[in-house]
Amino acid sequence: MDNKVTGKNTSAELFERSMKVSPGGVHSPVRAFQSVGGGPLFFREASGAYLTSVEGDRYIDFCQSFGPNLLGHRDAEVQEEVMKAVDSAWSFGACEPYSLELAEWMVEKLPFVEKLRFVNSGTEAVMSALRVARAATKREKILKFEGCYHGHVDNMLVQAGSGLAGEAASSSAGVSQAMADQTLVANLDNEASVEKVFSEHGSEIAAVIIEPLPANYGLLKQRREFVLRVAELARENGALVIFDEVISGFRVALGGMAEVLDFTPDLVTYGKIMGGGFPVGCYGGKAEYLDMVAPMGPVYQAGTLSANPIGMRAGLATLQKAVREDVYNVLAQRTEGFVGRLNEIFKSSGCGLHAISQGSLFWIHGAGADKAVRSLEDIPKDQGETYKKLFHALLDNGVFLAPSGYEVAFVSLAHTDAVLKEALEAFEKAVKVL
Ligand code: PLP
Repeated sequence: MDNKVTGKNTSAELFERSMKVSPGGVHSPVRAFQSVGGGPLFFREASGAYLTSVEGDRYIDFCQSFGPNLLGHRDAEVQEEVMKAVDSAWSFGACEPYSLELAEWMVEKLPFVEKLRFVNSGTEAVMSALRVARAATKREKILKFEGCYHGHVDNMLVQAGSGLAGEAASSSAGVSQAMADQTLVANLDNEASVEKVFSEHGSEIAAVIIEPLPANYGLLKQRREFVLRVAELARENGALVIFDEVISGFRVALGGMAEVLDFTPDLVTYGKIMGGGFPVGCYGGKAEYLDMVAPMGPVYQAGTLSANPIGMRAGLATLQKAVREDVYNVLAQRTEGFVGRLNEIFKSSGCGLHAISQGSLFWIHGAGADKAVRSLEDIPKDQGETYKKLFHALLDNGVFLAPSGYEVAFVSLAHTDAVLKEALEAFEKAVKVL
């Protein structure tokens, strides 16, 4: 069978073929463009701030693989390290120095990470952290927040965000009732809802897990006092505090939201950026909890490809460059300037859209300029529909946003002033057709 995709294939043809062999034609739901309508584009190449479709069209990419590419696609320095890695080993399944170098670097830079374990995805990191919390407290229940996404761990698929947020279902089929029953859900930006859960279930809760900067149901920036109150209630009730920093970690600051909020969680989960674009995740935190993990302790957790040398070396090269080039300040300033200009364009067009940002993350919503959007109730009902129009108008003008109005956008180091200027010109044209 010669099924090699050639330069002559269109995205539509490839999607049709893909539908025959994969559910919905994709390997992760948002990629199917269901929230924005139309068939998905197939991309054949990515470089810096740009994607190239199989048709040969070029797009400025604000999705950036949903966040891992802090430096943009195929950063030259990271690529060099990856090529060296490929030349020396692909996978050992044994001890090697590369994960040690990354682990030591992280433990030195992150004061709230005394020990850590590498895994292969954010989902695995969360699943493992929850297991450790249950073992440490000898309790079963986990408190999560509506609108926070923590990967497709069974008992986190309860009113989850991310790909599900744009759709009617609020939880997944196939998750047993017993699993769902272990999870309690509170509302973001709402101290009373958290107090209520603790007053009813305080002695059963093993951990509270929160995205301290929720970025999977739009960008729901929380008040610092709210996050700290959640943590205080957890500790008063003997529950662990888990910060899920799979998106915010190494993104809004080197130390993510733990650094921004100046708070030490008991456990923290990472993914995305720390693998430099390769499948890597990690959970870490206080040594007393990490020492409960096998082979040292009774909590079993393992992985054939865990700490694969390519991801380890790409991750370390990415993070070292980020520090050396002061990427967090550079990108925060760049993004702020870009979002400011974007809001001028939105305002003068009267389209009702508004953009907000934190660090190099931004999100476009339809709730208006004067409203703080902190919880699901603050998001207008027509967010999906409004975004859909913007998404396609931008696509027609060479800009690719994530294909869902509930996903955030990512600015990378490769989004230079010149690229952002080009993007603003595209937004100017796009708002005209809204
Ligand atoms: N936690 C958060 C906050 C995430 O944003 C994600 C993915 O977007 C995950 C966990 C799951 O990570 P992964 O997709 O690598 O399994």
